[in-house]
Amino acid sequence: MITTYLSLGSNVGDREANLRAAIAALPQAGLRIQRVSSFYETEPVDYLDQAWFLNCAVEAETQLEPPALLRALQSIESQMGSKKEFAKGPRKIDLDILLYGQETVDTPDLHVPHSRMLQRRFVLVPLAEIAPNLQHPAWSAKVRDLLAQVPDKSQVRRAKNPL
Ligand code: AMP
Repeated sequence: MITTYLSLGSNVGDREANLRAAIAALPQAGLRIQRVSSFYETEPVDYLDQAWFLNCAVEAETQLEPPALLRALQSIESQMGSKKEFAKGPRKIDLDILLYGQETVDTPDLHVPHSRMLQRRFVLVPLAEIAPNLQHPAWSAKVRDLLAQVPDKSQVRRAKNPL
């Protein structure tokens, strides 16, 4: 079993129901959930002219190899009818692999640790809640310290606890 960390986000429709439905779909997809962060209201970054997101982080164990894990997450996105009209635009549900054990994956389809995760408060704040001491070998510090140093000032507000 490998411990993996995921980032989930939604800014279309009932965002809370969308996050809950995606979390509920993880066990059938081959993930054993260990922890789920609070849900956070987060200001859009990159493409600013869209609704605020609801984001959370999930820690899970899996036997799926990274490409199969990505396919499993993409299949949840498509089963939920999530369509992205354009890159970084609004979406019903987005599931990203942040970390996969201590591994580094660099293929055209998959970058783990997720390429932009260390620049984004909407990823780091939920992750620091469930795994503050986590550190990947390629990182200079633990998640909590990386969050303290991140230049991103976008708003991330705790919404409500899902559990
Ligand atoms: P988006 O839906 O905008 O998050 O982008 C999805 C695309 O990012 C897919 O085509 C994936 O192949 C690619 N991708 C690269 N690295 C990752 C990752 N760590 N987790 C999820 N998708 C990834």
